[in-house]
Amino acid sequence: MYGVVVDKRDDMSVQSKLTKLRVGVVLSSGGVRGVYAHTGFLLALEKMGVNVKAMAGCSAGAVVGGIYASGTSIQEWVAALSKITPKQFWSPSFLRMGYSFFFRKGRGYSGMSSTRMAMAFCYQHLKVKKFEDCKIPFYTLAKNLLHGCKTLFERGELAPRIVASAAAPLLYEPVQINNELYCDGALLELSPTDAICCKHQLDILIIHHVARHNKGNIGIKQLLQQPWSLIEVLNMLLYQQRPWYLSDDPISFRQCPCGCDAIIVVIEPDLPEILWPATDSGLKVLDNTSQQTMKLLEPYLDSIRYDKTSLIKEVKKSPASSNSDLECGIRYENLN
Ligand SMILES: [Zn+2]
Repeated sequence: MYGVVVDKRDDMSVQSKLTKLRVGVVLSSGGVRGVYAHTGFLLALEKMGVNVKAMAGCSAGAVVGGIYASGTSIQEWVAALSKITPKQFWSPSFLRMGYSFFFRKGRGYSGMSSTRMAMAFCYQHLKVKKFEDCKIPFYTLAKNLLHGCKTLFERGELAPRIVASAAAPLLYEPVQINNELYCDGALLELSPTDAICCKHQLDILIIHHVARHNKGNIGIKQLLQQPWSLIEVLNMLLYQQRPWYLSDDPISFRQCPCGCDAIIVVIEPDLPEILWPATDSGLKVLDNTSQQTMKLLEPYLDSIRYDKTSLIKEVKKSPASSNSDLECGIRYENLN
């Protein structure tokens, strides 16, 4: 089904080499599409025999990364996703909205959906309760509403922190943890690379970036024709920052900018859209991502597992990170 590339070399010398390189993985935000895409990506890594030593994730990446790092097998998780319905993570109540607006002047109303269902879903699929007990060291981030700052989570209960990282403002109520309120980490950073890079003696850090990139006017016109285009406008308003590591290629290579020797491999697959909160085409996205990941990484697989020399050559060949999308300080109106 997945057009798998499986490594059949199983002699002891190769096995011992397999443990030599330390690979870390960062999963970006990306909505419902991101949940399926990250799962396809992890499935591909497992099939290619890439051993993950540390993980970090934001928003959709927090959900998939946290559940996987807790010890849930990728097969169990794919099976869960194949049965999921929007009701399991999204429960807006228009009755509650009406009551709150008309009878309470909006008091206490902080989001269209509570996070109760999403939290229950996480508890159901996590193998351990706390970060400290995860099979793979795992980190996530959320925005602290009171202080407006980024908070990196690495201890305590997983479920509330994962849900906090994914709680998009206005769609979900913020999550209360130790008397502080938190919401979507993607408001601050789409992929928390600094959570693991330079901290786990990584040789390679693979960033799987699936947050949406609105390309040009036609893309924006199409988005505005979609149902719930208000949500699209919100998305554009809140999540437009372009991370430092992105290029315009589906795979690119960088050196860690903070001083450790890790090679950063960035993968940005080309994926069809999934509109919030639909899940019907999710498994196609999962399968598609898995195949793209294998195709993109296959030429570098030996380097990723045994020897990063050829990746270092790729870094030297790469043009400097393109910052064209960062030129958002001032743009003058185009009257033509
Ligand atoms: Zn680093």
